[in-house]
Amino acid sequence: MVLPAHIGLWRQGVYNEAMYRVVREITFCYGHRLLNHSGKCRHLHGHNGRAVIVLESCQLDHLGMVVDFGAVKKVIGAWIDTALDHRMILHKDDPLIPLLQQQGEPIHVLDVNPTAENLARLIYDFAAEQCFPVVEVCLWETEDSCATYRGEAQDRGER
Ligand SMILES: [Zn+2]
Repeated sequence: MVLPAHIGLWRQGVYNEAMYRVVREITFCYGHRLLNHSGKCRHLHGHNGRAVIVLESCQLDHLGMVVDFGAVKKVIGAWIDTALDHRMILHKDDPLIPLLQQQGEPIHVLDVNPTAENLARLIYDFAAEQCFPVVEVCLWETEDSCATYRGEAQDRGER
């Protein structure tokens, strides 16, 4: 049987409208400061962050799910708990790192400035590494400020 052309395109991922989407939020607390920032973000401060993890698939599993919400919490939530929650997240060149390490303070060191954008990407990359069909992660740094990272188009194909 020859499929209509638009079905073939949909199957190739050219059309993305026929997709299921699930969203799971994970909240955590973190501290950071931004190197080379001219404003008050250059000082140590903290946030009650909210990561909004968006997962999509054009097919459901045998239970009728894109992904079990519980699996997102168990895998991504557990990693956030261990790696980021109640930690000072700092750029690798931050001169405070040795001092905080000496004091036994929990830190998480990044190659890039710990902005909301880079934290969104950090969580996205972890979710993708764990084979979740993640399409974007939004990191709400405050109640009114959010940064989003979307993976590259080829990452968002059928999984
Ligand atoms: Zn901040």
